[in-house]
Amino acid sequence: MKQSVKMIAGNWKMHGLGASLVEVDELAASLAAEPTEHRVIICPPATLIERLSGKAAGSAVEIGGQDCHEQVSGAFTGSISAGMLVDAGAGLVIVGHSERREGFGETDALVAAKAEAALSAGLEPIVCVGESLAQREAGNAVSVVTAQVKASTPESGPGRRFAVAYEPIWAIGTGLTPTVEQIAEVHLAIRTALVERFGEFGGAVPILYGGSVKPSNAAEILSTPEVGGALVGGASLKAADFLGIIRAA
Ligand code: PEP
Repeated sequence: MKQSVKMIAGNWKMHGLGASLVEVDELAASLAAEPTEHRVIICPPATLIERLSGKAAGSAVEIGGQDCHEQVSGAFTGSISAGMLVDAGAGLVIVGHSERREGFGETDALVAAKAEAALSAGLEPIVCVGESLAQREAGNAVSVVTAQVKASTPESGPGRRFAVAYEPIWAIGTGLTPTVEQIAEVHLAIRTALVERFGEFGGAVPILYGGSVKPSNAAEILSTPEVGGALVGGASLKAADFLGIIRAA
């Protein structure tokens, strides 16, 4: 399905102090001067969400978290619930990023539980999936990603807003990107898995691509069939780079 309104989401990861918010001022000012039809989302560290939501109020910039706990509240030192993200001003949340799947042992079942918690709190989850280099080289990229989509998207998703982001692990932060044929192949497999899981609703779930997206490759990637947006790491930290991607969409 061709989606004309793309989601361009920036994942700041563990980067950014208060001083970094000038980048959002620049982004918002540029979008005010020259509006875009696309959705522009920044997912800063949790410490900046509230300040960012103050700055972004009334602008075209939406705000997301980078992770949430699957429980509503409790004795989970250091964790943040979906409701807390909403309270701080977020409207979306990334769940299942490969850096959490690999670094924190997050399973598909946990990612699905986090996505459910996000939906229950009124957040729009962006559920990340993606194969490792070894899995791709073994010819298993499509089967790995298909299984992840089926097991980590929220069961109660139909009728609510959520997205999937295909992020091949070997392309994240490396400067490497799959060919457009490889992106198209996996995105089509994700679309098929979503339709098998959710019926007609699955045909409209946005599927973002993430992994070394930058202004110079954004137009080609974002015009690939079934690519409904981009999840951007490094190139989202500077307003000029992120704007280059938004303007290429
Ligand atoms: C990411 O971390 O989600 C990502 C896509 O990073 P980068 O754009 O830096 O590869």
